[in-house]
Amino acid sequence: MLRETVVAAAREAASVLWPVECAGCGALDVAVCAACRTLLVGGPVRGSVDGVPLVAAAEYEGAVRSVILACKERGGRAEARALAAGLAIALAALPEAERVRVPSSGEGMRRRGFDPVALVVRAARERSWALRRVPSARPGAQKERGVVERERAAAGSLALPPRAARALAGTPVVVVDDVVTSGATAREAVRALRAAGCAPVGIAALARTPRRLGGTLAWPAAAGGRVSARKSAQQPLAPTPNISGGQDGHHLRRQGR
Ligand SMILES: [Zn+2]
Repeated sequence: MLRETVVAAAREAASVLWPVECAGCGALDVAVCAACRTLLVGGPVRGSVDGVPLVAAAEYEGAVRSVILACKERGGRAEARALAAGLAIALAALPEAERVRVPSSGEGMRRRGFDPVALVVRAARERSWALRRVPSARPGAQKERGVVERERAAAGSLALPPRAARALAGTPVVVVDDVVTSGATAREAVRALRAAGCAPVGIAALARTPRRLGGTLAWPAAAGGRVSARKSAQQPLAPTPNISGGQDGHHLRRQGR
């Protein structure tokens, strides 16, 4: 009886440490299944934030969303490795530059004890700097806010720490974030980096929320905006000259086909 209890407890512990269900679709005996891995690199999905090209590895929906949430909640290495493949594709589609992470919210860090973006960046064998959160007069999670509220809450919420600012002054940098939703946080990251004297040349994200019908999101109004991973692999360092500047991407032309 005792032995059975111990075995059951060990099995439960093992299933937590080494998940045996796909975090994306629940398929058995694999942490992230092949089908979900394919979805995680389903983009790149392109856009622009304040004239800075954005490349996300996939749309934030379905299994992609589930894997990202699992990585954020549990810090699973298998999930982080699967997401790292998408991050690598997003980074390869942007100009080569130093990477600067958007940090977890203070609340998220306290609750989880780790920074999911840092985890994925490490899994991608990339080095990165990190922005820091500036203590805010408007506490609360971005995901609970509307677009206008997000914009307002994000303003002035990020800064580049002095050591990073000294090291990166005058150099091109790429922002790395997990999920780009309204673009408010990415825009704030771009602002903070410019304020620190850096030149943001791209934003790489694990996923981007799909365009909402009639919404006010900052994504191109044209249908599509996707290019195939194959095309991206053939042109790994191609800059994105045909993305024009402009607030909220209103002046975007389609990047992909
Ligand atoms: Zn799966």
